[in-house]
Amino acid sequence: MKRLYLSFAPPKKWRNGRQKKWLEGTAWKRLRQKTMDRHDYACVYCGYRSEKYQIADHIDGDPENNADSNLQVVCQMCNLIKHSGQGCVIVGIVDLYKKSRFSQNEIMRLTHEMRGRGASDARIIRHLGLEEKARFRQDRGYLKGLYGFVTSKPSFDENDMYSKWLGYRKSHNSEPKLDEHQTRLTER
Ligand SMILES: [Zn+2]
Repeated sequence: MKRLYLSFAPPKKWRNGRQKKWLEGTAWKRLRQKTMDRHDYACVYCGYRSEKYQIADHIDGDPENNADSNLQVVCQMCNLIKHSGQGCVIVGIVDLYKKSRFSQNEIMRLTHEMRGRGASDARIIRHLGLEEKARFRQDRGYLKGLYGFVTSKPSFDENDMYSKWLGYRKSHNSEPKLDEHQTRLTER
């Protein structure tokens, strides 16, 4: 599995009006679908699979580089880690910690799994061993030493893709619910 780090997109490569238009066109829709098919809708960082709201992500952060080799599938949660300025500041639902018992990739996989089974944030955080909160800084070296946790707090923007995915997931969730006892058994 490809390693996931807290990061942010280089400001120079943020989308402009022309690129936004391209992302609404049919050529991009085809490319997006091709990327989804090639990777069977599975997130490259955590393996989470969803037929809706997965992101065809530009690996180098450049929305104009649409080569197959530059496109990968990323889930809505891992996207907020990769673009942590957005996750921490703009939508305000990612918290940062200095300590974790797991890698960032495992944090994502376990958060999907446990939340899907009804675990609270407090329980997931305890299981992951996340300790000592940290603040966001636009500094890649600093962020690389931290761990991001996508909380279940609502996004500041209820109409964003992340919120839409949450609604979709809620209506399609088929994970068996864990009761407190079972959750305790899965903790290592
Ligand atoms: Zn993911």
